[in-house]
Amino acid sequence: MKPAPFAYAAPETLEETLALLAEYGDEAKLLAGGQSLVPLLNFRLARPRYLIDLNRVAGLAGLAADDVALTVGAMTRQRRLERDPLVQQHYPLLAEAAAFIGHPAIRTRGTVGGSLAHADPAAELPAVLLAYGGSVRVQGPQGERELAAEDFFLTYFTTALEPTEVLTAVRFPRWPAGTGWSFLEVSRRHGDFALVGAAALLTLDADRRCTRVAVALTGVGGTPYLVREAPAILVGQEVDATRLEAVAEAARAGVDPEGDLHASAAFRRHLSGVLTRRALQQAAARAHPV
Ligand SMILES: Cc1cc2nc3c(=O)[nH]c(=O)nc-3n(C[C@H](O)[C@H](O)[C@H](O)COP(=O)(O)OP(=O)(O)OC[C@H]3O[C@@H](n4cnc5c(N)ncnc54)[C@H](O)[C@@H]3O)c2cc1C
Repeated sequence: MKPAPFAYAAPETLEETLALLAEYGDEAKLLAGGQSLVPLLNFRLARPRYLIDLNRVAGLAGLAADDVALTVGAMTRQRRLERDPLVQQHYPLLAEAAAFIGHPAIRTRGTVGGSLAHADPAAELPAVLLAYGGSVRVQGPQGERELAAEDFFLTYFTTALEPTEVLTAVRFPRWPAGTGWSFLEVSRRHGDFALVGAAALLTLDADRRCTRVAVALTGVGGTPYLVREAPAILVGQEVDATRLEAVAEAARAGVDPEGDLHASAAFRRHLSGVLTRRALQQAAARAHPV
């Protein structure tokens, strides 16, 4: 298949990009890594009249970190998350999860901003952003705004981004040193999108009692799903089998997955519990109080 005809623009600044978006509005599509958009164009599931390529726009790629957070430019390739020593050391959940995205060739082109803006309900990065309690930075005709992950993902392939806005950067807050992490997923074949995935972060004190925890799931509905009950069940407590099962039960009860040709809704619900429990267990085992 070939895409329907479109006009192509390759702006070099964010200002030019915003001006083009303001002019063309929802007749335009931004092109990042192209790993989701190009197949959609080729199947003519997307037929934009204008394609605005972000690849030459200055200042959209790269990592910046301080003691508080990691800021990832929207055009940073997914592969960088997996390989960057700073990410591996201080944001190991991000590095671990990135390695589950498709295959190396896809991660080498695919961008962090593209994955979040595309908002595939089975994607890894949206759940990881939710687990970290992160946010996205967005630039539009009215200036900049920052949206918490919880407010950004609205439903299947739909975010709070306006057609005139560009996602410019993503912010992952740093969790305390010694925090344990785990990303687990079940997919039909290695490299496939997850049927269900779980991203967990868990901090322990010197008595191995939980001081902070988050677990978020992917593949269980239109948006990534935060298991909100986890802190009430685990914080201040030892992470034992009974409490892990209580969080798993909360996950199973809370998710609202749909069935499709890859997995039934019941199987996805079952996986939600299993992966929640296992991810928290692994995160607790990796946590070391400092
Ligand atoms: C075979 C295959 C397997 C894959 N497996 C997985 C997987 O297991 N897990 C997973 O998460 N993904 C997977 N992907 C998708 C991959 O991660 C894509 O890279 C990602 O979904 C989109 O990122 P992109 O940079 O390629 O964006 P593009 O495809 O260029 O764009 C995707 C959408 O986001 C919009 N967009 C992109 N950047 C911005 C921005 N900065 N601001 C506003 N809007 C923007 C575009 O307009 C478009 O609508 C797979 C892809 C393929 C081809």
